[in-house]
Amino acid sequence: MSNIGSYDERLRDFDWDIAKRELGWTDGEPLNIGAVCSDWICDRGLADKTALVWEGFGGKKKTYTFADLRAYSNAFAKFLADEGLKPGDRICIFMDKIPGLYFCFLGVLKMGGIAQPLFSAFGDESLQVRLVSAGTRAILTTQKHVRKVRKITDTLPALEKIIVIEGDSDKLKAGEVFFDAEATPRIESFDIHPTGPETPSILHYTSGTTGQPKGAQHVHASIWAQYITTKWVLDLTEDDIYWCTADPGWVTGTSYGIIGPWSMGVTQCVLDEGFSADRWYKFIEDNRITVWYSAPTAIRSLMRQGGETVKKYDLSCLRHLTSVGEPLNAEAVVWSEQVFGKAFHDNFWQTETGAMMIANYPGMPIKPGSMGKPFPGIEAAVLDLKTHEPLTEPGKVGLIAFRPGWPAMFRAYHNKPDVYRSKFVGDVDERSPDELRKDQTLWYVSGDRASIDPDGYYWFVGRDDDVINTGGHLVGPFEIESALIEHEAVAEAAAVGKPDEVNMEVVKAFITLNPGYEPSGDLELKIMNFIRKKLSPLAMPQEIEFTDKLPKTRSGKILRRYLRALEWGEDTGDLSTLEDD
Ligand code: ATP
Ligand code: MG
Repeated sequence: MSNIGSYDERLRDFDWDIAKRELGWTDGEPLNIGAVCSDWICDRGLADKTALVWEGFGGKKKTYTFADLRAYSNAFAKFLADEGLKPGDRICIFMDKIPGLYFCFLGVLKMGGIAQPLFSAFGDESLQVRLVSAGTRAILTTQKHVRKVRKITDTLPALEKIIVIEGDSDKLKAGEVFFDAEATPRIESFDIHPTGPETPSILHYTSGTTGQPKGAQHVHASIWAQYITTKWVLDLTEDDIYWCTADPGWVTGTSYGIIGPWSMGVTQCVLDEGFSADRWYKFIEDNRITVWYSAPTAIRSLMRQGGETVKKYDLSCLRHLTSVGEPLNAEAVVWSEQVFGKAFHDNFWQTETGAMMIANYPGMPIKPGSMGKPFPGIEAAVLDLKTHEPLTEPGKVGLIAFRPGWPAMFRAYHNKPDVYRSKFVGDVDERSPDELRKDQTLWYVSGDRASIDPDGYYWFVGRDDDVINTGGHLVGPFEIESALIEHEAVAEAAAVGKPDEVNMEVVKAFITLNPGYEPSGDLELKIMNFIRKKLSPLAMPQEIEFTDKLPKTRSGKILRRYLRALEWGEDTGDLSTLEDD
């Protein structure tokens, strides 16, 4: 029996108080994510339970208990406070997925700071944009990455502290401080800053897929949504061994790679190594991972390696598979059923939403290619493109929208109040989440398009900016790309509009090939014939271009706007997020 049990019953009886109650929080009490994920778990008698199993390059392995999490996060909290950092300061965390990342993340929250995690693979320019934007006061990093910080310090007037938490303390430059939480005496108790549900907690920058990355400001109340979605969508129980492949530089890596699972007292595994199918499968086998949360870009890479690689490992431990970040092609769901005997359960959400919004639930039939249904407690709709009225006709494409006021909703875009307001239909300023939820005139508009089928399942079409307008008809890239990757030769695909005198835009597809296939006119023809049976004439690409690699964001999302700009001869815009290795 899954945690969610009957989706329909949950829908009917849902109340966010369920999460508050189960977490043991009562109205008026302080709420601090750092405390809930460590001290509260210890208080439940789980101090000696393994919280983190960490593996890095060269076979390095370490494990930590919840008591360790508490002690080391306390050590960071105390150190930061002693260094003069204050509640409300933005403190950037810029490092690989080393154990210290997890300790200092919780530590920043415990002293009342705002954690600003940034992906360690960012170069100095990408880092600079986000530190300037946030007015970051301190940065926690490692010897490996500190040189990128040094390059830009002169351009960061707000930055007062550079703290190095791993490496050689002798190699620091003037003004830098070294702190190793594991090497200092354990601090079993710390006076946690009394943050409340509405106190800012994490500042997360979006992936920058559609434009300049925006800093989404979250609050401690997000944990209610992260906890209950972890329980009902990821289906975690206290006996599970869980692996979230996302880096905490992105929202999935904090909401479900730190907060959700640890708020439940679940053991998490972290692999701090580059991607390889063999390494990943071995990690699952060695650690007997039961629940796995990953992303379409990784799943497509695994598919590219083929099912034979899977057979070399005993993956019978896997119980539940889930995916987020991009649309999950039906082909990937079918493949995972074949090779793992389990379907990947797709779910949809954003940096701004802080927690899952639409999902496939354990026990509910999956329709491959669909994102599933709204999470209980989330009021979702697909709005008419022009009038912003909810569409009632099944199959009609519109804007995915949510009633504002769910606990994990972002509360601002840092320093961009107008952009924040522009995301809503109606006025959301200065109103509490409870008030927002009651106002039936308000919508948060996600920037993505979908349709809803007669059974209430949501089908992703594309991002607003990626939709192709051909001869006045709107075509979503997802259906074209999904048709393409069903062809045995195609590994990944991106469909964009290219200029056309008659139709304004026509579809152009970029594809990468699976091992064993070579680009040729003949193959292009075969692929065209294959997809012709699946797509409407309007959605048919006029041209297919073979490429070695698709442009992606650092978080692994296909960057269609870049391909589109090249086709139109336009400026490629902010590329601070472009993966360039
Ligand atoms: P930016 O907002 O800077 O352009 P981004 O939207 O890619 O970047 P994220 O918040 O990391 O930044 O990603 C959220 C977006 O990812 C969603 O709006 C949607 O476009 C896409 N996405 C996430 N999950 C899914 C899914 N299951 N199916 C389809 N699309 C998804
Ligand atoms: Mg976005």
